[in-house]
Amino acid sequence: MFDFEKRDIKYLTGVGPQRAATLNKELAIFTLKDLLYYFPYKYIDRSRLYYIHEIDGNMPYIQLRGQILSFEENGEGYRRRLIAHFSDGTGVVDLIWFQGQKFILNKYKVRTNYIIFGKPTYFGSRINIAHPDIDPAEEFTSANMGLQPYYNTTDKMKRSGLNSHAIEKLISNLLGQIKQPLPETLPTHIIEQNHLVSLTEALQNIHLPKTPEALRKAQYRLKFEELFYVQLNILRYMKERQQRYCGFRFNRVGDFFNTFYKKNLPFELTGAQKRVIKEIRQDMGSGRQMNRLLQGDVGSGKTLVALMSMLLALDNGYQACMMAPTEILANQHYESISRMLSGLYIRVELLTGSIKGKRRNEILSGVLTGEIHILIGTHALLEDTVVFSKLGFAVIDEQHRFGVAQRAKLWKKNVSPPHVLVMTATPIPRTLAMTLYGDLDVSIIDELPPGRKPIRTIHQYDNNRKSLYLDINKQIQAGRQVYFVYPLIKESEKMDLKNLEDGYQTICNHFPQYQVSKIHGQMKPAEKDCEMLRFVNGETQILVATTVIEVGVNVPNASVMVIENAERFGLSQLHQLRGRVGRGAEQSYCILVTGFKLSEETQKRIEIMVQTNDGFEIAEADLKLRGPGDLEGTQQSGVAFDLKIANITRDSQILQHVREIARQEIENDPNLENPQNAIMWEQLRILRKHNVNWSSIS
Ligand code: ADP
Ligand code: MG
Repeated sequence: MFDFEKRDIKYLTGVGPQRAATLNKELAIFTLKDLLYYFPYKYIDRSRLYYIHEIDGNMPYIQLRGQILSFEENGEGYRRRLIAHFSDGTGVVDLIWFQGQKFILNKYKVRTNYIIFGKPTYFGSRINIAHPDIDPAEEFTSANMGLQPYYNTTDKMKRSGLNSHAIEKLISNLLGQIKQPLPETLPTHIIEQNHLVSLTEALQNIHLPKTPEALRKAQYRLKFEELFYVQLNILRYMKERQQRYCGFRFNRVGDFFNTFYKKNLPFELTGAQKRVIKEIRQDMGSGRQMNRLLQGDVGSGKTLVALMSMLLALDNGYQACMMAPTEILANQHYESISRMLSGLYIRVELLTGSIKGKRRNEILSGVLTGEIHILIGTHALLEDTVVFSKLGFAVIDEQHRFGVAQRAKLWKKNVSPPHVLVMTATPIPRTLAMTLYGDLDVSIIDELPPGRKPIRTIHQYDNNRKSLYLDINKQIQAGRQVYFVYPLIKESEKMDLKNLEDGYQTICNHFPQYQVSKIHGQMKPAEKDCEMLRFVNGETQILVATTVIEVGVNVPNASVMVIENAERFGLSQLHQLRGRVGRGAEQSYCILVTGFKLSEETQKRIEIMVQTNDGFEIAEADLKLRGPGDLEGTQQSGVAFDLKIANITRDSQILQHVREIARQEIENDPNLENPQNAIMWEQLRILRKHNVNWSSIS
């Protein structure tokens, strides 16, 4: 049989070793199968031939049939061009090439029938078509005059003649060699029940569709399949986890929780906090191991929910831990939690990379003996030397900084995995959450504590600093504090740090009467903490920083967030940063400072920020502007597979449909025994093998 799965691409007619190397390197295409699964990104209708006398100035792509009358070479150096005068008897157009003239002259002959395809433009009274596609007219039959596929290729590929058209030819060769149907990748009953076309038909029509209808069916089948296996993987994985582990059953609500609730809680819980605590309590009492994602906008009070859930673990005789992505944040959690628990006889300790020597050993032994009830820290908690006596519950704050693998490490901290609560302020749209975290249950805090005034967001150009500084002075005089944030990106780190230093100097010069703190990633943790503490305690009025302060820090008295070079930040990052203010009772401001020249996309980002404070709305907009692949942290969070054809935003209806089908399949065949499903489980096994993220967990 024709083994398209493994057969090296170099053996395909028209490829050879050199082109194969290019395909390997540029597109990661190694086998015939890889090529077959390299899908077009768009299609153009080539079902109609035009006459030259019909052409007007604003037509899209058209095709003509005729002959080249003569060639003409023109211009010098970079203005050099090749012109072919082309006619179909109803008029003349100029075909123009700016590169590859030699190749064209060798390849195409005058007085030969060609079909040409391109976009006509008017130049004076003449019609030009630059870099048209040209095919010999006899090769071009009505059979391939349907929708023409377009493939992405790189510059390097184009230079060696591997443009979209060349890829199309290779694929057409390959499809011509497939004489028998390819092995199916979905079970028959799923294909039948969902009226899907066969795999072979789908692959044929995704590349060379005869009609728009055929293309639509092919796309549906392939998207269906792709999303189906993503969901099957997630749901199956959930099931495996449930079968393998049973959870600690926390069925007591005891003194710690009750005393805290009655005596220590300084305010009333919001309705959303109450609801989420109840969800967590039920989950941890069910005998199942909890894996829950807690989403809540910045400032919605997630820490308190985490703390009260930890008290439940303590009431049931277990230890709890909480892991934060930065030392600053771990510190802050440690301090606020210790403060809130005062008088409760609960021992809370902090463990970070900068706690060393004797102190570290003391903590490690306290964790081991169980004298320490709650351990708060950074990823230092994951180290093998950290051994708990009886860990029952782990909280991970700001999930997008941690990978799936790290979550898995936490699971191993007890013979049976502890309950896990993952908290994030990066609101993830539902459809995406389903795909990314399908193995997590989701709780949402959709209500802010009362008395918060919505933050006012203002866009300002950077030549308008005078008025900005005036406003800031007013705020500080009224007793508030101010953040100035500068971008910091690895690639431009030196420049960025210089900008920050310059900004710091300017601010110091401008506000000699105030104290200014400065924090960036290159400082030692101890220095950073010291500076941060000065700001938290109100000793400094202004904090100049890079995005190290992005997540979590809480200074209720800070009411102004100035984001410099705001054009360089993504939407979710801007929203995170803005969330650092608006935590007290005062009116807060976020000022986005940009240059004058802004791209359209940047303008949109800024507009959205000015218009709304709603994190979910922002996340949806972000997804639309950037696409899910780009969404911050999705790489580490373990998207099941990279998607070749489906789009999580656009195809969310299919996603929901296939999720239900996947759920039923698992329910009907829990032990993978039904022979008619063999194909399906085999496919899943293959897909998992190619995905390290998932295998690292089980
Ligand atoms: P985030 O969800 O961003 O982690 P935090 O947990 O840091 O938010 O909470 C932000 C602030 O709101 C904290 O100062 C916290 O004490 C306060 N807070 C939390 N819950 C309530 C509540 N129910 N009522 C009033 N203030 C609250
Ligand atoms: Mg927080």
